[in-house]
Formats: sequence, C-alpha cells, structure tokens
Amino acid sequence: MAACEYSIRVNAYHDGELPGAQCREVEEHLSGCPACAAELEQLRGFSHVLGSLVIPRVSPSFVRHIQALAQPLEEVLLIRFGRRLTAAAAAVMLLATGYWVMNHQAPAAPAASAVTFASWEQQVIYPDAHDAAAGSDSAFDDFLRQDLSGARP
Ligand SMILES: [Zn+2]
Repeated sequence: MAACEYSIRVNAYHDGELPGAQCREVEEHLSGCPACAAELEQLRGFSHVLGSLVIPRVSPSFVRHIQALAQPLEEVLLIRFGRRLTAAAAAVMLLATGYWVMNHQAPAAPAASAVTFASWEQQVIYPDAHDAAAGSDSAFDDFLRQDLSGARP
C-alpha cells in the first residue's frame, strides 16, 4: 500500500508546524482519508505515551560528577588530536622535503678554468693589461692571479 501524499503534512499538523491555510487543508483531507486519520491517531497515541513517562530526576551531585569526568576527557581528546595533527604535519613536511630534494639539484659550480671574461669585462677590470696584450688573455690572467692572491701592490 502506497503512503498518502499527505503523510508528511499529517506529521507536521500533529506537531503544530503548519500555517493556518495548510492546517485547514490537512483537516479537510483527514476527514476523507482513513490512512491519514489512522496515522494521526497513532501519532497522538505515541505523544500520550511519551507524555506520561516519568523522567527521572538527576541529583546535583551526579551532575557535578559527570562534569568532573567530562573535563579531563575533553583535555585528553584535545591533546590526542594535537598530537595526531602534529604527526600529520611532520609527515607532510618530510614528504615535501623529500620531493624537493629529489627534484631540485644544486646548480653545478663553474670550474675555475671555465671562467672566462669577455673583452669588455677585461677592459673594465684592467684596461692596461687588455691594451698591452691585445688578442691574448695571459696579461689579464696574470693580473687576476696577482690581484686575488694579494701579491699585487
Ligand atoms: Zn491521506
């Protein structure tokens, strides 16, 4: 048996959640639909049973005891969460570092013999040596060697 399309509205009607026009519409429907009328009676029965239940009173000392238990538990859970978050962050950092190391190699330092200076650089650094030995780098090399070793006055 298929449920009536008004079934959901009957629940809302029972709970007093429908506005006036919809409330009247459901009331009219209830008079002509035995399934919805039965559902409403069932809901009223449940409400009556639930309303007659006696809810036990909890003593203030019991409430204080539960609160005292909850406070350390909350701290333990917070500390545990912090530790797990720290471990996860460390793992991510290690993976990222490993990835970076695997994919980034330091550029090779140029060999000393591979360093060359263009003609205009030689002229800027030591114009006399360049003029004196046009076409040869030996005078410039000598100048650099003496300059870097501190032998040049
Ligand atoms: Zn119905």
